Amino acid sequence: MAVEDEHAVQPLPARKFPTRTCVACRTERQKREFVRVVRAPDGTTSIDLTGRANGRGAYLCADGSCWPDALKKKSIERALGVSMPPEVRVQLEGGVGHGP
Ligand SMILES: [Zn+2]
Repeated sequence: MAVEDEHAVQPLPARKFPTRTCVACRTERQKREFVRVVRAPDGTTSIDLTGRANGRGAYLCADGSCWPDALKKKSIERALGVSMPPEVRVQLEGGVGHGP
């Protein structure tokens, strides 16, 4: 039984990486290139370093370059509908996850 397309080159399906848009600078990147700030169902806001926390997330470039802007423009507050908890602000000002 001949299988006509046995050796046919199948076009590989375009690999879809989940992309997100930075809430501060609007850069589109792959999900793993972001730091996620999450508003948990209980209303607390924190930086989600695992990327798996429950709740509504806002994404910021992991390199931290736009974090001062995000704080200045209140991008996270607007994206999540929360006020910025001081401890999260401190973390963002200090540049969590990227070296000195
Ligand atoms: Zn950004």
